[in-house]
Amino acid sequence: MTQTFEGLAIGGKRVAAANGATAPTYNPATGEVLAQVAQASAVDVDQAVRVAHDRFSTGAWKQMRSRERGQILGRIATLIREKSEMLAQIESRDGGKPISAARGEIGAVANTFEYYAGAVNKIHGQTIPGNANGTVMTFREALGVCALIVPWNFPLVIAGWKIAPALAMGNTVIVKPASVTPLSALALADLALEAGLPEGVFNVVTGSGSVAGNALVTHPLVRKISFTGSTEIGVGVMQQAAAGIKRVSLELGGKSANIIFADARLEPCVESSLWSVYDNAGQDCCSRTRFFVERPIFDEFVERFVARTQTMRVGDPNDEKTDMGPLITSQHRDSVVNYLHVGDGEGARRLCGGDIPGGALAAGNYLTPAVYVDVKPEMRIMREEIFGPVVCIMPFDGEEEAVRFANDTPYGLSGSLWTRDIGRALRVARAVETGMLSINSSSSVHIEAPFGGMKQSGLGREQGMTALEHYSEYKSVFIAND
Ligand code: NAP
Repeated sequence: MTQTFEGLAIGGKRVAAANGATAPTYNPATGEVLAQVAQASAVDVDQAVRVAHDRFSTGAWKQMRSRERGQILGRIATLIREKSEMLAQIESRDGGKPISAARGEIGAVANTFEYYAGAVNKIHGQTIPGNANGTVMTFREALGVCALIVPWNFPLVIAGWKIAPALAMGNTVIVKPASVTPLSALALADLALEAGLPEGVFNVVTGSGSVAGNALVTHPLVRKISFTGSTEIGVGVMQQAAAGIKRVSLELGGKSANIIFADARLEPCVESSLWSVYDNAGQDCCSRTRFFVERPIFDEFVERFVARTQTMRVGDPNDEKTDMGPLITSQHRDSVVNYLHVGDGEGARRLCGGDIPGGALAAGNYLTPAVYVDVKPEMRIMREEIFGPVVCIMPFDGEEEAVRFANDTPYGLSGSLWTRDIGRALRVARAVETGMLSINSSSSVHIEAPFGGMKQSGLGREQGMTALEHYSEYKSVFIAND
């Protein structure tokens, strides 16, 4: 990929930042600069918000027939599929993802737009008989300008989860991608225009969270903020949104449990558990980073899991056979390595991994996957989100202890449990405090179903028809009989 200049996407045009600021975006596998990207200041954000507000107020999008809105969203899905290799290459190079995984993610983004293309004309209010004097009708109305703030771990997938339902409801949007993965959102904005989306309905401001993100969150014309990122930044976003009574949804961090009972089918469990924690090099909010294994099978599980971990192919994302690419930045790898020092210092036993490969991989931010045993619930590596390929495995005795261990965290995003006893599976699934849980599986994402967290993992839900509620408001209209 040659180094290009990538401007902000405002009002259907690509423009430089008003002050001309740019910053490079890098390939985490090689350190190569991929593009110089415009860095929005508060002035650019204000311009983007005013354009989006104007487009919302003039109604070109929200007043379009719902069927036509759906057709445009459907054309976006089609174009994503047609350009999927180009988008997958961008996502792989900007985010260090194995190309095979990046292709899968682009397919998922197309599915998201397709789902909401079909949902557009199935959103309606109710007719509510009030009293003898009349009836209430409810309308589901768009909110206005929505600020969509996206992290770097699944840049286009998560952007799609926000953009598609927001547009389906008739809102206008401004996307703020993470500074280190800005390219795919810009490419999507170009495709949306090609699909016939009116100019200024979907805008992208690239730049830092502290400047561009903050300007969006505090802008008086922004009605809704949908934020995905760390719990720490999410707290600040929510506090700032409070000043303007802005609607907020938050998808935040996680420290999810993987509970394995002694009657689990071990082979599929080991394989699936492996991907549940090492997918995307462990940079996944739904990562099952705390494994609780019932004592009778603890040793056998650990032996098999470590053996399989050591066969994970860490390497060039462009190689179709690569399982794990680099971490997103060298600073982030330093933070993960620091957790390994903390874990070692706390007395946990590292059975494998945590090595920085040399040779051909020395220029990238690579790290081999690490497994800890002899961990205790109070250790930092058991409590804090490491966001890298690091797993802690602990034994448990009985159902009650498994649930207690799983719930011993401020987070509540995802998780898995493995058993052949359906009664126990349902009891434990009901008792674990988490937004999503998979039984005999590690799958967390189903575009048709609500996705989101309990406790400090967030507020609100993405995906499914539920997401549309977060991008609309009810209006009740009373009609008198006489
Ligand atoms: P992050 O540092 O919180 O950043 C997320 C986004 O917020 C980025 O676009 C960032 O911009 C922006 N931002 C930073 N400071 C801001 C501010 N003051 N105001 C407004 N926006 C601001 O998170 P990350 O490191 O990108 O992503 C990793 C985290 O996301 C992990 O904790 C992970 O668990 C969580 N996550 C959660 C989910 C979920 O669905 N629950 C999904 C994926 C990831 P910059 O890039 O410029 O800093």
